[in-house]
Amino acid sequence: MSTPRFHRLAVNELRRETADAISMTFSIPQELSGDYNFLPGQYLTLRTTMDGEEVRRSYSICSGPDDGELRIAVKKVDGGAFSNWAADELKSGDELDVMTVDRERLIFGCVHWDQFIFLIAEDEPMACPRLDHYGFSVSSRAELDAAVERARAFHGEDPRVDLIDTTVDDQGVVKIHSMYVGYLLPMMIELQYWEFV
Ligand SMILES: Cc1cc2nc3c(=O)[nH]c(=O)nc-3n(C[C@H](O)[C@H](O)[C@H](O)COP(=O)(O)OP(=O)(O)OC[C@H]3O[C@@H](n4cnc5c(N)ncnc54)[C@H](O)[C@@H]3O)c2cc1C
Repeated sequence: MSTPRFHRLAVNELRRETADAISMTFSIPQELSGDYNFLPGQYLTLRTTMDGEEVRRSYSICSGPDDGELRIAVKKVDGGAFSNWAADELKSGDELDVMTVDRERLIFGCVHWDQFIFLIAEDEPMACPRLDHYGFSVSSRAELDAAVERARAFHGEDPRVDLIDTTVDDQGVVKIHSMYVGYLLPMMIELQYWEFV
């Protein structure tokens, strides 16, 4: 695996997706095409200079490996330097430093596009007590129940799946339905559904 490095690439197609989000592809010279091959769940790091300071930001690749393009989407963040600049100022033909895809780093989406787990390979594996967890939310009890069912079915095939069934924490104005699941990663994942009453 080669060490990730930056190349200056021109923005190819820049598309306005919503009022506050754009997507863009990059023109990749033939000789660099191998460096930008990617797998689902990988991301690009962009680098530019803003007000004399180097700024680096990462964006998930939102095209598929067989789509024939390398596309990312940037959504404006309130007060965010790079995202607002990219959404308002950037245009086709402008150039950015784009890091080659780093295969050691993987992101797995979870339930919604803006919820993800970001894994970094390290020589010394991370360890933590059971029940240390990441939290993700789902939008309905049915979605939560379906996730529990999937985890239970998977546990049937592989006993390393660590499942803690759904409990409901009644806080009066909101009931928090949550389950925990762990598999191979050091931390468990908590899925929550917030039922506002
Ligand atoms: C692996 C990975 C993948 C990602 N994929 C995507 C993606 O696909 N699409 C996407 O849109 N984003 C993605 N992101 C997020 C993206 O990298 C940026 O973090 C995001 O665009 C915001 O950058 P920004 O420069 O606009 O905001 P920043 O300037 O970094 O600001 C972020 C927030 O912090 C606040 N802030 C900044 N400085 C200060 C300060 N000094 N004091 C107080 N508050 C401050 C800002 O007001 C703003 O609310 C991803 C991030 C990672 C790590």
